[in-house]
Amino acid sequence: MIRHDLHLHTTLSSCCRDPAATPANYLRSAEELGLAVIGFTDHLWDETRPGVSEWYRPQNLAHVMRIKKMLPSKGRVKVLFGCESEYCGNGKIGIGREAAAEFDFVLVPMSHLHMKEFVEPSWVRTPRDVAALMVTYFKELVEFDYITGIAHPFLPIGYENVNQILSYISKGEFEECFGKAAEQRISIEISTGHFPSINNGAETHEFNDETFLEMLSIAKKVDCRFHLATDAHELENLGRIVALEERAVAMGMGDAIHPLVEEAISG
Ligand SMILES: [Zn+2]
Ligand SMILES: [Zn+2]
Repeated sequence: MIRHDLHLHTTLSSCCRDPAATPANYLRSAEELGLAVIGFTDHLWDETRPGVSEWYRPQNLAHVMRIKKMLPSKGRVKVLFGCESEYCGNGKIGIGREAAAEFDFVLVPMSHLHMKEFVEPSWVRTPRDVAALMVTYFKELVEFDYITGIAHPFLPIGYENVNQILSYISKGEFEECFGKAAEQRISIEISTGHFPSINNGAETHEFNDETFLEMLSIAKKVDCRFHLATDAHELENLGRIVALEERAVAMGMGDAIHPLVEEAISG
């Protein structure tokens, strides 16, 4: 597998509190770790899209573009310039086609459920509601053909009862969701967030390293392509990519990496 990490936050992301999380430091660390490709994905709300939240407002296109001036000149590691935008349901997305064209790749999550009454509507009360919302958002999101990948799919951010929530999503529903993503060639992210032990969190009865294995194997079975992601918000978290890659290889994902990664090296 080509060692890569396509989901990194720098100091340009409001939630990044590590002053060492600069593009230059990530690149140095990536080289030490033997990564061939890294992708920067700071949070973005493209100001041409309506309904921005106060948190996203300063993180507009011009802001995220600043990274281009922060990148050191050529090194051994190939850099892809991306972003992580937002999906709020009913077609409300934080990036339009024109802004997307400014990037090498665009990640959009469908599960930033900690953003109450922005991503998660107030009618969501029960684990079953959370599950239904994520399925709906996923299906809506893969209709956007300018998206490259789904960030941390079905990881209900802000919830601890992950097994319970996922129990309300049937195998058939996962097949339908991922089948559509495969058809649209939208990459499925394998995130350290899917594996609490890699993420330095304790495994619990409600969320452990087994939790997402079946879901990811369904995605593989319906012929999805994948990318790996530490979703690092601190420089040192990039090192988690080694353990994540081991998991991905063990799951048989080594030959199902999204072509973007390979093209980055040959291009
Ligand atoms: Zn995210
Ligand atoms: Zn992220």
